[in-house]
Amino acid sequence: MSHQPAVATKMSGEMDKPLIGRHLDSDGSLAEAPSGAPKVGILGSGDFARSLATRLVGSGFNVVVGSRNPKRSAGLFPSAAQVTFQVDAVSSPEVIFVAVFREHYSSLCRLSEQLAGKILVDVSNPTEQEHLRHRESNAEYLASLFPTCTVVKAFNVISAWTLQAGPRDGNRQVPICGDQPEAKRAVSEMVHAMGFMPVDMGSLASSREVEAIPLRLLPGWKVPTLLALGLFVCFYAYNFIRDVLQPYVQERKNKFYKLPVSVVNTTLPCVAYVLLSLVYLPGVLAAALQLRRGTKYRRFPDWLDHWLQHRKQIGLLSFFCAALHALYSFCLPLRRSHRYDLVNLAVKQVLANKSHLWVEEEVWRMEIYLSVGVLALGTLSLLAVTSLPSIANSLNWREFSFVQSTLGFVALVLSTLHTLIYGWTRAFEEKHYKFFLPPTFTLTLLVPCVVILARGLFLLPCFSRRLAKIRRGWERDSAVKFTLPTAPALAEKTSHV
Ligand code: NAP
Repeated sequence: MSHQPAVATKMSGEMDKPLIGRHLDSDGSLAEAPSGAPKVGILGSGDFARSLATRLVGSGFNVVVGSRNPKRSAGLFPSAAQVTFQVDAVSSPEVIFVAVFREHYSSLCRLSEQLAGKILVDVSNPTEQEHLRHRESNAEYLASLFPTCTVVKAFNVISAWTLQAGPRDGNRQVPICGDQPEAKRAVSEMVHAMGFMPVDMGSLASSREVEAIPLRLLPGWKVPTLLALGLFVCFYAYNFIRDVLQPYVQERKNKFYKLPVSVVNTTLPCVAYVLLSLVYLPGVLAAALQLRRGTKYRRFPDWLDHWLQHRKQIGLLSFFCAALHALYSFCLPLRRSHRYDLVNLAVKQVLANKSHLWVEEEVWRMEIYLSVGVLALGTLSLLAVTSLPSIANSLNWREFSFVQSTLGFVALVLSTLHTLIYGWTRAFEEKHYKFFLPPTFTLTLLVPCVVILARGLFLLPCFSRRLAKIRRGWERDSAVKFTLPTAPALAEKTSHV
């Protein structure tokens, strides 16, 4: 199509000009673009069309909006944008944004003649039901209705609000796809000029995938969240039986007031601690499997593969629960029940004629477990911060694996110490076995201790050397002779699990 390169050239000439600031009138409104500015059409006068027009005008484009009722819509657009009937709006621009819903595309067919040979930018988003119902994407459907046009999918991931506010306040990436490289380039240059970042997603066949992007709701978080919720429910029920039900049934004491704060606060660290150990358990299992198979070239089972991929989310949920535990712990002394308990204790002491209550062992135990707990939370927060993409991108692979693997393991060891010192001798005292149920902390220690012991085991030279060899490509049944590099740093680097 002969007109397309012309559009692209014209636009690329304009891209060098500064953006929004240049086009503001003295009263702050968007001024008319220079007469030579590229002309862009928009079909539709809704929320998206309005934001798009504002940004396009601010980026130096000549905007003409096509509406079924221009009189009604004109007041909603910047004065620099021309609002007219659909048929007039599409006659001169080479690039036209279709800012109407899919179900109304067919009503635009009467413009087929005027639209012939032009670039149509499909900005639409299907709903979840529409996405499931239609086999072809909105963009492909638009292309089938207008076979003489070139359809490019773009801007659907950008909300009207982000368009209006500008790219600084939102997602900057704009996935683009289309079958015509020239048309894609023209739209990409417009995306650039508007302050966004185009991301080429290939041909129009990818448009279904591009349209699915805004439909995603935190992918990768479903299983870890369900896992955390499941653990929370189990531990909460267990703590409820021990701390509330048992005193009620056996001692006729009403401790139901503990449900909102105290029981939650004893449950959260259990969840955080077990989740943290579940971040490192799949690494241990993977290492054990590699040692058993004598190769790294056989695929892990799917469940282990998925588990390994979800470690970041599980770790972040562990940090979330640990942070909540810290906040809840701060709230404990604020509760009315705590004050009553303190006063009652003081009264009891006075009645018993005791003036100085100080149990040295208890004092030290608490000082130490609190301090270790704070250290564990601090280390965990380092892990959480370095898992943010902007921070992770600034670390090289060795730094990232040091923080995630070594510091993460330190956090697990600190949490174990926190738990052990908190529990102290309670695991061995019969009175703490309420309804014959062991104290909760003893249950939580199970998986973390297995992980710590296994990691310790893998540090033994017989295992660590073999693991290092396997991770450098050695295979037990292979005929190829293999010598591990002697540098201890390299052996250590490859022995992370
Ligand atoms: P909207 O406010 O409902 O606007 C839709 C516009 O379509 C109407 O204002 C109407 O303008 C026009 N239209 C043309 N033919 C029509 C017909 N036969 N019946 C009804 N309306 C017709 O919707 P919107 O939020 O701007 O969304 C427009 C498109 O942008 C949708 O495909 C949406 O998926 C996409 N999108 C929106 C956002 C967002 O944040 N809003 C974000 C990304 C993508 P006239 O009456 O002037 O003709």
